[in-house]
Amino acid sequence: MHLHFVFPRWQKLLEGRPELREALSGYEIGDFRMAGLGVATAAGAVPAGHGVTLVDENAELVDTSVRPDLVCLGFFTPQATSAYAIADRFRAAGVKVLGGGIHPTMAPEDALVHCDAVVQGPVEGLWERILADLAAGRLERCYRGDPAAPFARPRRDLFRRSGYLRAGIVQTARGCHLRCDFCIVPECYGRAVVLRPIAEVIEDIATLPYGCFFFGDENLLFPDAQSRAYTRELLRRMIEGGEQRDCFMATYPHFLTAIPESDLALMAAARVRQIYLIMGLSHPIGEELHHSEVLTAVQRMKEHGIEVLASFTLGHDGDVAPVAPAIANFCERTRTNLAEFVLGTPFPGTALYAALERAGRIIDRRWEHYNGAHVVFQPRGESPESLRERYVALWRWFYGPISRLAVRGRCVRGFGRGIFTPAGPTSS
Ligand code: SF4
Repeated sequence: MHLHFVFPRWQKLLEGRPELREALSGYEIGDFRMAGLGVATAAGAVPAGHGVTLVDENAELVDTSVRPDLVCLGFFTPQATSAYAIADRFRAAGVKVLGGGIHPTMAPEDALVHCDAVVQGPVEGLWERILADLAAGRLERCYRGDPAAPFARPRRDLFRRSGYLRAGIVQTARGCHLRCDFCIVPECYGRAVVLRPIAEVIEDIATLPYGCFFFGDENLLFPDAQSRAYTRELLRRMIEGGEQRDCFMATYPHFLTAIPESDLALMAAARVRQIYLIMGLSHPIGEELHHSEVLTAVQRMKEHGIEVLASFTLGHDGDVAPVAPAIANFCERTRTNLAEFVLGTPFPGTALYAALERAGRIIDRRWEHYNGAHVVFQPRGESPESLRERYVALWRWFYGPISRLAVRGRCVRGFGRGIFTPAGPTSS
């Protein structure tokens, strides 16, 4: 059979906010392409003997005149609008369409308006059944994946080699035992953490066609004993293997403060160059920014040569506007010079979305606007326009005019050289 994977387009920050183009000129922020991990992993799980092709609508047009046996759309909420347009065109020509990824998992009824069937959760272990059902002409509407299924090796080779940020995403786990109301992870991948075998992670890293990579899972910096032991072992194996790529991890302030000094040293030795620090999402940003422990933790990290890309989410109900002075103070005291500003976005299927919907506060259901650059719910205590203006003003303030050389310096310090220059055995 021929399976045709499609990675639908989504609106980049600068498409929705062209007024920020000048401020962000020269940064790898706001208008970049990254090869999707989920769709590449789904393609990697297809059993041998089937033909697999992939088109990324963010990089090229989707030709709907092709006639595969199955079109497989992998998408997150901001891609849903494009995904549905593609699905409708293929289905009008009689081609079956399967939806998978975060949005079909969280909002299957929405996806099933446009797709013949959806996969909820990981697709690993399901393909044989799906393809047998397809061949027999009896596709089911929903297939539920098993979070404990073996991890597939992503088919990153299906993406073009140029036009993308030279950074890959590496998966280390599925699921989360925490229950943050805004998060899609426990619902998509289970409420228990399933760790990917370290040998597989190391093998995956070794074949990355990029100069640096992000670890896609936050559990690496969770403070529980299992996560700590896994991360230490992974970092040791990276050091022993002489891994030369820079890598990035993500965490929240309350986990950052709990990282022991010895682990920071291990992270630095394994070339962890940057922490993507997510603020204002799980707690009001005002609370997090005033915590002296958070400031100290960032300063300690920097002493180990680990930079911060601070992600400031605006619009938390617990925030008392304005938060700009606290953000400015934090950035100055920690010498943070790479940041992003995100408008809080309740994703369908989460407890947060349900609560806002019950309260009549969802004001925009155009999925392409669920990209962190639009106000999609009624904020508490201010108008949507006021929140949007504060958001634009923060971007402009942070990325005010500086020389191109200084821009490059910031980016190299924050991301490492690998994001600009290819490295590693399979780089083009
Ligand atoms: S936001 Fe992070 S910590 Fe919270 S449930 Fe999701 S993955 Fe777990």
